[in-house]
Amino acid sequence: MRILISEDDAALAEALRFALKQSGFAVDWVSNGLDADEALKGAEFGLLILDLGLPKIDGLEVLRRLRRRNSTLPVLILSGREQPEEKVAGLDLGADDYLVKPFSVNELQARVRALLRRCHGVATPVLTYRELSFDPATRTASISGHALQLSLHELSVLEVLVRRFGRPVSKEQLVEQIYTYDKEVSHNAIEVYVHRLRKKIGTTGLLVRTHYGRGYALDYVEP
Ligand code: CA
Repeated sequence: MRILISEDDAALAEALRFALKQSGFAVDWVSNGLDADEALKGAEFGLLILDLGLPKIDGLEVLRRLRRRNSTLPVLILSGREQPEEKVAGLDLGADDYLVKPFSVNELQARVRALLRRCHGVATPVLTYRELSFDPATRTASISGHALQLSLHELSVLEVLVRRFGRPVSKEQLVEQIYTYDKEVSHNAIEVYVHRLRKKIGTTGLLVRTHYGRGYALDYVEP
């Protein structure tokens, strides 16, 4: 899952980036509204964390443009402005949640998880596919109660696949969800993570099936 942070306070952005990366998200950061608008047109994100007071174009305008493009991307607004009318304007423009600075990083992480759950239409916090469970809160996966030992990247691949409930995900989409601006994009790396994932879930009937030309999907056959 890839998150875009639009925040001109570099220290705050770095703290958020660190916390969200610890939670297993791929995180990109832009420091002004124009770059946010461009990034949102160009890449597929799972969530936008949007400061309202941004240089070049303010946060409300970034949000207005995003919704004008009919994007349903979940948006969490951050703001130092405590005026109720700012909050109302943000929510009316289609923001999904609102945090007033200063806030605790723990609260932000919890709200990010809650937003992602809501937006994927999953009522329970733990995602499941047959015997496989994925807990976004603890970044752990298990099959029939047995914990899987997965690297951060393997977990990220698995998370994208579980969220699709068996529908194929293209390699490009996986790359977008896992890599960030500061890392080199490689399809080979995705193949390696999928290969390792297959070995780790392989004896349980669950498998990662290759759909030629369409990508990968979780599937199940009787073991
Ligand atoms: Ca600001």
